[in-house]
Amino acid sequence: MYLDGEDIMLKSRNDLLEITKQLVQTKSIVNTKGEKSLAELLYAKINALSYFQQNPSHVELVPTIDDERERYNVMAFVKGTKGESHRTAILMGHLDTVGIHDFGHLKDWASSPDELMKRLDDEKLPDSAREQLKSGDWLFGRGALDMKSGLASHFYLLNYYSEHPEKLDGNLIFLAECDEEDSSHGILSALEILKEWKKEHGFEYVAAINADFVSPSHEQDENRYIYKGSIGKLLPTFFITGAETHVGSPFEGLDPNYIASELTRQISYNPELSDEAYGEVTVPPVSLKQSDLKPNYTVQTALSTFVYYNFFTHSWSPKDVLEKLQKQASIAFKNALTNLEEKYIAYCELSGDEYHRLPWKVKVLTYKEMENKLIEEHGDSYIKHMNQFKKALLENKELDVRLYAVKVVEEAWQWMTDKSPAIILFYSSLYSPSVVTDDKTPENRALITALEEAIEEIQPSYPYPIKTRHFFPHIADMSFVAINDDEDGIQAVSDNNPSWGTKHVVRYDSVRELNVPVINVGPYGLDAHKRLERVEMTYSFEIVPNLTKKVLEKLLC
Ligand SMILES: [Zn+2]
Repeated sequence: MYLDGEDIMLKSRNDLLEITKQLVQTKSIVNTKGEKSLAELLYAKINALSYFQQNPSHVELVPTIDDERERYNVMAFVKGTKGESHRTAILMGHLDTVGIHDFGHLKDWASSPDELMKRLDDEKLPDSAREQLKSGDWLFGRGALDMKSGLASHFYLLNYYSEHPEKLDGNLIFLAECDEEDSSHGILSALEILKEWKKEHGFEYVAAINADFVSPSHEQDENRYIYKGSIGKLLPTFFITGAETHVGSPFEGLDPNYIASELTRQISYNPELSDEAYGEVTVPPVSLKQSDLKPNYTVQTALSTFVYYNFFTHSWSPKDVLEKLQKQASIAFKNALTNLEEKYIAYCELSGDEYHRLPWKVKVLTYKEMENKLIEEHGDSYIKHMNQFKKALLENKELDVRLYAVKVVEEAWQWMTDKSPAIILFYSSLYSPSVVTDDKTPENRALITALEEAIEEIQPSYPYPIKTRHFFPHIADMSFVAINDDEDGIQAVSDNNPSWGTKHVVRYDSVRELNVPVINVGPYGLDAHKRLERVEMTYSFEIVPNLTKKVLEKLLC
């Protein structure tokens, strides 16, 4: 089935189906050896193309940097011969996928679309999924949607332009990066090569086109979305210390779990913490972990507790978010104390105990504020101790970056002279900045205009509305090719992440240096990261490559 208007469009469907299946069949779950296998397969496929046989230095299998694992990006470029322009577009996409546990008893077939689809036929499925399974227009399997079909489209275009460099006035880069589903080591490492290539070949980066998946925003939504940027994400984390007491006299202490509960009540689902920009609104934060640090059962209350929340952003910087959350934490702390006082009074009335006003005060500090206090008080001895502590903690490779940060805060807290109950606020994981390709710079305008014209030309050949929006709603590597935050906004991350510089570091200055306008033109489908992950072929295998090609033509011709 080819769409109307095939005379102006490449007949990409069968090729993309074949490439997508091949990529799906090579399992590439993040943080497994599969990432390397798929990188090697892509590298070999590109190497086999005659352009790259003649220009072997135009494709590289590049290891990641600052990474605990061995894995690779695949990077290639075609130099256009139509004119003298140095304008360069980047086709980017991740080669890793999430795991396959969600497939349950079907997990052996998660990476074999044909086999999987035969077996799914015998499963209990929602009506719409069954219809799609039978339609011949949907392909199921891990990575089919997120995002091997997108990568297939990019590969297809790389192949096309390697055969037709005479159609490019400028250059085209293909970038397949690893580790998108976890820590973005792939894209962050690729930035360094892009910087080298810029020096070596004079590339001027005018656009990056990502091809991550898109889905409808609600059940009746027929739009196919193109995104002009991406949502941002933070992991604000709170370390809460209480005052230990025996369960027999609870009012003599302050249970940190009690404060944590109030904090979660204040922050989770709170629409005041939804960030609106361009009429698009983020969902409010929600807790992702809440746990005390008591190793095992005792009849003492816990000494300390930590909680972290998912936090999406459209326009707020990490600094803005810290300020907002410091306020929310103070409100929560105050509410907890007021509530506790009321309960205590009621209990005294009931039991006849003598009432004394409880001594607790609201105290909320950022990690940076606590550090400043500690350095002022203890100077070098504190700094030396913490450096040793962090270094020793690094030995434990199993410790995840979030817990590493919590342990550092817990250790630092031991140095506080005033150990009265407190909330310490910090970041414990990767910050993915939000990205907006607005019309404020000529570079952005050129890309947005190219995109709008391309949609206008393609739309008559396609029955469903192709619509643009600003913020890609899932975390994507687009966050690391352009940046909207100022230096101050970013500084809040490095100052307030206790693992910064040891377990975790991101070169946001490299992102700022490249700062490429970015859009996402990606495959359409449903249930990414679930066992019914599936991609709709007509849009993904015909519209996506042709729309992307039109954008490239307008930018590089
Ligand atoms: Zn993805």
